[in-house]
Amino acid sequence: MAIDERELERLADAKRESRTPLRCPQCGYDLRGAVASQCSECGYRISNREVQAYANEARARIQQAETVKEITSIGLKAGILGAGFLLLGYVLGGDGGGALMLGRVAAFFAGFVGFVMGMNITRFYRVPIEARDDLKNKPDPFVAGGSILVGLALVMLSLFLP
Ligand SMILES: [Zn+2]
Repeated sequence: MAIDERELERLADAKRESRTPLRCPQCGYDLRGAVASQCSECGYRISNREVQAYANEARARIQQAETVKEITSIGLKAGILGAGFLLLGYVLGGDGGGALMLGRVAAFFAGFVGFVMGMNITRFYRVPIEARDDLKNKPDPFVAGGSILVGLALVMLSLFLP
């Protein structure tokens, strides 16, 4: 099988430039170690345009995911703060005074913010799995999950607690 030297060079350039491994658009085979512009698994011929399109999209998603670690971490802190507000409301206004109302309102908003911020983890999962190592700020799924759960619990508690 003849290998187009120029195309090979372009492919190598695109891969180097993107730093992002490439998957075959047809069968999903990992072409990280591939030297030819043809999938060794299914024989699909990969065009330079496809390599670029893949690399560009992966890069864009990585960029969008760089802030996820910080946002989810703030979300968890917001949730913890909200739980504090709720507790304080009960301690200070346990008999149904204004402090309790204030604590519940604060907990509701903090919980909502925590939930929304925690859900930012979906932006991380939109990065192709083989490209996630390129992320400089990798989010912790447990922090994000905690942010979502604490936020959700706070919203519920602030609404439905007696
Ligand atoms: Zn293939």
